[in-house]
Amino acid sequence: MPFTIHGLPVSQGIAIGHVHLVSHAMLEVNHYHVAAKYLPEEVERLNEAVATVQGELVGLKAAATAGQPHSEVGAFVDLQLMMLGDPMLVEAARALISERRCNAEWALVQQMELVVEQFDQIEDPYLRERKADVVQVVERIVKVLLGHPGHLPPKRRDGLGTIIVAHDLSPADTIGFRDHNIGGFVTDVGGPTSHTAIVARSLRIPAVVGLHHIRQLVEEDELLIIDGTRGVVIVAPDERIVEEYRLRRSELELERSKLNRLKDTRATTLDGEDVNLLANIEGPKDLNQVKAVNADGVGLYRTEFLFLGRDALPDEDEQYEAYRTVLKSLAGKPVTIRTFDVGADKALNGVSARFEPNPALGLRAVRYSLAEPQMFLTQLRALLRASVHGKLQIMIPMLAHAHEIDQSLQLIAKAKAELDAEGLKYDPRVEIGGMIEVPAAALALGMFIRRLSFLSIGTNDLIQYTLAIDRSDEAVVHLYDPLHPAVLKLIAGTIQAGARFGLPVSVCGEMAGDPAYTLLLLGMGLRNFSMHPGHILEIKQQVLRADLNELAPRVQRILKMDEQSKVRDAVMRLAS
Ligand code: PEP
Ligand code: MG
Repeated sequence: MPFTIHGLPVSQGIAIGHVHLVSHAMLEVNHYHVAAKYLPEEVERLNEAVATVQGELVGLKAAATAGQPHSEVGAFVDLQLMMLGDPMLVEAARALISERRCNAEWALVQQMELVVEQFDQIEDPYLRERKADVVQVVERIVKVLLGHPGHLPPKRRDGLGTIIVAHDLSPADTIGFRDHNIGGFVTDVGGPTSHTAIVARSLRIPAVVGLHHIRQLVEEDELLIIDGTRGVVIVAPDERIVEEYRLRRSELELERSKLNRLKDTRATTLDGEDVNLLANIEGPKDLNQVKAVNADGVGLYRTEFLFLGRDALPDEDEQYEAYRTVLKSLAGKPVTIRTFDVGADKALNGVSARFEPNPALGLRAVRYSLAEPQMFLTQLRALLRASVHGKLQIMIPMLAHAHEIDQSLQLIAKAKAELDAEGLKYDPRVEIGGMIEVPAAALALGMFIRRLSFLSIGTNDLIQYTLAIDRSDEAVVHLYDPLHPAVLKLIAGTIQAGARFGLPVSVCGEMAGDPAYTLLLLGMGLRNFSMHPGHILEIKQQVLRADLNELAPRVQRILKMDEQSKVRDAVMRLAS
């Protein structure tokens, strides 16, 4: 019997395909059967991962016990090393691979669950708690394995894609989808501005998140429809429903093709103000989409995607090639490249898992870059070298302190001096800007305005940090409100300060690509909107209908309101 589940729509479109469940165990891993001829390879993959973890643990122990032979950490590491050698764990997982053709991650997690169950039976509370070490050691192995993915689920023969059903997915997981005929995904957790959702939109994969227990409600291979526009998931649809959704999918495509007529129309308001509609990209792969909508430039290139989901970091030449390709392709239109924003939910592979009590407030973005100056310098050199191929602007994410800009500017000066000494060319006019996405920055704009050439408001983080809600936590997603009066004051204040001091300001968070907010942002004085290229034509349609003379005073009145419901009603009325 077909049934429907409602969640949060995070990436538009309709997908019809077969379920591929990822583990409902504590660890999120794929489940699949390995073809017989690949079994020895799969066992070897596990062996190598175990050897890597053994090496890591020995190294960790050496570091932890230096000068203190009886360190507690040393004892824990010993315990984990012992577990690695326990035949109940790795040995048994090898057997599951060879005999049941399970992929390595799945085999290991299954075995872990068995061992953990046995620990649960133990009476002694100390020993019972040692199950946490089993889980930790397995997590370490799985992490290594995920850096070396095995064979992904086979492509379907019936022409339908695979729909991933998971508890949660990291942005790095979603990147891999592109190559594997993944039609869409649904998850138990997540919010619309989580990085995973942003990647889904960029890949144009329909997605619904925040479904709570979807994994318990569907079976491997079952037919599923995702309506990523309405946040609806239909399980086991019959032929009639499938037909209906096929029809709806064609209608959506038709609507899009109508919007295409606006591609070469300039985004000008009814009273003649020009508005720039720029694209957010994650790399050269998005250039076709940028061209398809004839964006006015790139307002946000999230370079961290070049660094994620791989073991070795991209070197200067690889980065240079990526940046050059984008700059050349934009042929003189402005390209704002953001220095890597890693950390929090965009963790790099293989970086020692430092326990972070609160990753969103931890070593992220510019904080990470300044903690790894060599890595930062390599990127700055690559960016500067690429600058001769177009109109580059460099943007620093998540600024909160003046010294973060000062240090970044010093590193840029250092990169330039090195290139000068090596006789390598760069454009000396490259402008440096910063992202306003921490309330502290929005409230102390002077120090940023004095040091920078442009500002871009990252509303995704600005809202997260203003309202103190983790943007990737679906339990608080209902509190994520772009129309909260505090948020609007910070955005409007930044736009006004930019205008007063002649500094260009853009918005590059998800708000810029949501037609519900276009008139509001225009009325605040915003003239630069940067968004996923898939939204540009829809936003252009809004701009073409806007009359700023009429909007500006109405928006000023909204900014004085301090009741969320009144703000919401007034913003909705802007369109009427
Ligand atoms: C933002 O925070 O609004 C932003 C554009 O940056 P990201 O989504 O990559 O954090
Ligand atoms: Mg951000």
